[in-house]
Amino acid sequence: MDCIFCRIAAGSLPATRILETDDVVAFRDLNPRAPTHVLVIPRLHRASLDALGADEAHLAGALLLATAEVARLEGVADSGYRVVANTGEEGGQTVDHLHFHVLGGRPLGWPPG
Ligand code: 5GP
Ligand code: ZN
Repeated sequence: MDCIFCRIAAGSLPATRILETDDVVAFRDLNPRAPTHVLVIPRLHRASLDALGADEAHLAGALLLATAEVARLEGVADSGYRVVANTGEEGGQTVDHLHFHVLGGRPLGWPPG
């Protein structure tokens, strides 16, 4: 298994886990860009949002609901936060396993650079 996020999901690579369900794992980003910076991933390997199948609405929903739950657990739901899925080369994706960033705990500029 050479995908680092598959290894984190399987538990063979350490990460600080925030939330786990049958479908989804959330853990702290190794290089946080905000006081709260958590990654939410499917346990199943999907390379990006673009690789999610049309028949995988349940998984897509589980991922999105988990981002909102992470924000509540991290205490940023009231102050506000951002959910980002960098996708592909120009989208700035560096790890080819679908993940949503949950960022919060400080004012976030818009648009991103
Ligand atoms: P992307 O650039 O693909 O949108 O986001 C990948 C994120 O994964 C980056 O924010 C990076 O800091 C994080 N990351 C890369 N390798 C690891 C790792 O081994 N553990 C954790 N917890 N985060 C990682
Ligand atoms: Zn993977």
